[in-house]
Amino acid sequence: MVSALRATRAAGDAATQPPVEPPVEPPVIDLHDVHKVYGQGAAAVHAVRGITLRVNRGDYVAVMGASGSGKSTLMHIVGCLDVPSSGRYLLEGIDIGELDESQLALVRNRKVGFVFQSFNLLPRTTTVQNVELPLAYAGVRRPERRHRALAALELVGLREIADRTPRTLSGGQQQRAAVARAIVTNPSLLLADEPTGNLDSAATRELLAVLDRSHAGGGTIVVVTHEREVAAHARRVVNIRDGRVIGDRVQVPSGSPESPTDEAVD
Ligand code: ADP
Ligand code: MG
Repeated sequence: MVSALRATRAAGDAATQPPVEPPVEPPVIDLHDVHKVYGQGAAAVHAVRGITLRVNRGDYVAVMGASGSGKSTLMHIVGCLDVPSSGRYLLEGIDIGELDESQLALVRNRKVGFVFQSFNLLPRTTTVQNVELPLAYAGVRRPERRHRALAALELVGLREIADRTPRTLSGGQQQRAAVARAIVTNPSLLLADEPTGNLDSAATRELLAVLDRSHAGGGTIVVVTHEREVAAHARRVVNIRDGRVIGDRVQVPSGSPESPTDEAVD
């Protein structure tokens, strides 16, 4: 009797239940009141002062702000190279504060690709071997490693110079190789800290085209920059001052079909 009642109730519940919603995807970046203090006492530097920020999959964000405003500190936290002094950071729903050093390194390797102003390629190792390196750390086997590294180099237009060493390349080529190395693991997030700081305008344009392509392929990108031309390619611009977010706006990126400036440029 009781079990029959239960069965009826269960069937009734099933009939009236709403369709199952797909699971909500967590933001790629989810920062809650994050602070970073370097040093202690009188020498303490409060580099990040309470940043709350969300970045969703497929977003393309430019972070702008004066030198010393805390942009690189923020990128190091977002990229799991450093941890907040206080506050909470979730990367694709993973609470970074709960990880130990080796787990942090694993998350960084799997989820984040980093591009720095100063390329940071190994100068005497071939370009393709440089690009393979994060895959080697991730335990990907040799033949697949080579295959994926060459595909990443193809994507940034450097397939032909795969066997050359970085010191024989131009700055622009080195930086595109650095992007290939950053995206070869297919990371959830591509972070670039002033990636065009050492590039001339032609190399800057080529790098921006590579970032645009990566974004069009579904990539999530955060780029720190002083240059308006670089920020113009993003869909969102976050302004930082003295370790705080003072502006956050969406924009129509240059180079997109919606951009009104394109006709004037062409
Ligand atoms: P930005 O990238 O916007 O130029 P940073 O994040 O590099 O700014 O620096 C923010 C502040 O934190 C600056 O005052 C800088 O001197 C200080 N800072 C950055 N890194 C360190 C560190 N490792 N130790 C001590 N102070 C630091
Ligand atoms: Mg910086």
